[in-house]
Amino acid sequence: MSFARSFACVVCGREYPLGDRYVCDDHGNEGILDVRYDYDAIGQTFDRDPLAADRDPTMWRYRPLLPVAANAPVPPLTVGGTPTYESPRLAAALGVSRVWVKDEGRQPTASLKDRASAMAVAKAMEFGAEIVTTASTGNAAAALSGVSASVGLRNVIFVPEAAPEAKVAQLLAYGSTVVLVRGNYNSAFELCMAAAERYGWYNRNTGFNPYMTEGKKTAMLELLEQLGWEAPDAVFVSVGDGSIIGGLHKGAKDALALGWIDRMPRLCGVQAAGSDYMVQAFEADEDVLTKAPIAADTVADSISADLPRDRVKAMAAVRETGGTYLRVSDDEILAAIPVMARGSGVFGEPAGAAAYAGAVAAAENGLIGSKDTVAVLNTGSGLKDVPSVMRGVERAGTTPIRVAPDIEALDAAMKGTT
Ligand SMILES: *Cc1c(COP(=O)(O)O)cnc(C)c1O
Ligand SMILES: [Zn+2]
Repeated sequence: MSFARSFACVVCGREYPLGDRYVCDDHGNEGILDVRYDYDAIGQTFDRDPLAADRDPTMWRYRPLLPVAANAPVPPLTVGGTPTYESPRLAAALGVSRVWVKDEGRQPTASLKDRASAMAVAKAMEFGAEIVTTASTGNAAAALSGVSASVGLRNVIFVPEAAPEAKVAQLLAYGSTVVLVRGNYNSAFELCMAAAERYGWYNRNTGFNPYMTEGKKTAMLELLEQLGWEAPDAVFVSVGDGSIIGGLHKGAKDALALGWIDRMPRLCGVQAAGSDYMVQAFEADEDVLTKAPIAADTVADSISADLPRDRVKAMAAVRETGGTYLRVSDDEILAAIPVMARGSGVFGEPAGAAAYAGAVAAAENGLIGSKDTVAVLNTGSGLKDVPSVMRGVERAGTTPIRVAPDIEALDAAMKGTT
């Protein structure tokens, strides 16, 4: 048995029994469902102290807050338990009180998406699915591919033809059926949706499968636990489909409902200037249910989205916590890669470092200041997209020293460098 009780449509609130369902009958793909829990029952059996003594480091340590039964099998990969590091140098650079960087690049397939994909595979096993599918800009694909491989589940993955090589390499190594779609993420998404419908595959798509938020929320539960259940003032995270930020919001709401934290962190969503649907909607107070798609284009492939699929939850995350949406340029994103790496030891891909670039923008605008504590979520590893990293370090003016294998040559070359 689980403490999850029902689904509720994020548009109309209509409730549905839990199970193998995706969206609201009345609201189509916009009618994303939210999993509702019985917090009173959870509170009676689950608390912070026994949790502190639990030696399971994975996301499944929060199982009473997840839509899986106590004894349901879950994939064996160690998903979750990623480190959170304090960085006094980044705090000084931003002019804030404290900064923590949570490194989701440490997940088994090197991005936060493993949290959602582990949940997807757990549900696929529960529902007896033979094949699971997703479309992705790359990381959700790699995550589903890797977690599926850990249990031998067949999977079909749709990615844009231009996805970074490292991400495609992961899919091929894990043995997925890989469909490279001539088009962008939106085209891959639509094709995957049609294929899932036609062939009856279990559909992990972001902003469609209601269980994905529940997996992603464990990043927030973990962050809060690592900070001693004291919420930071602001949490910065990059936003593409908006599913991660919606998940972070859910995790914080869970912790608040259980009395484990006494206030919400402000959730600050960061988008690339070329993929700024949510920023536009936030600034102009537009209704995300009617706002038309944009034509997204950014170096940060993981947050390139014409139409953020989880935009209803993503807007609520920022509005209900007093947070904000911020826009950063591709140059600022690339520049943030070495800055975050040097200031904290955490090496992010463009979409990971974008969160830090957003914190820089917020500091410049006075949205965070000397009294604030700030968490930055590095959502994916820098090894995911090496060409972008090289552009970032070139911009930072960092070049290697090239020498003949000779100590005198080295001596001459080293002058003035250390
Ligand atoms: C998917 C992803 C994001 C954005 O998450 P959304 O849920 O699409 O907003 C950010 N960073 C990385 C590395 C990702 O893989
Ligand atoms: Zn509805």
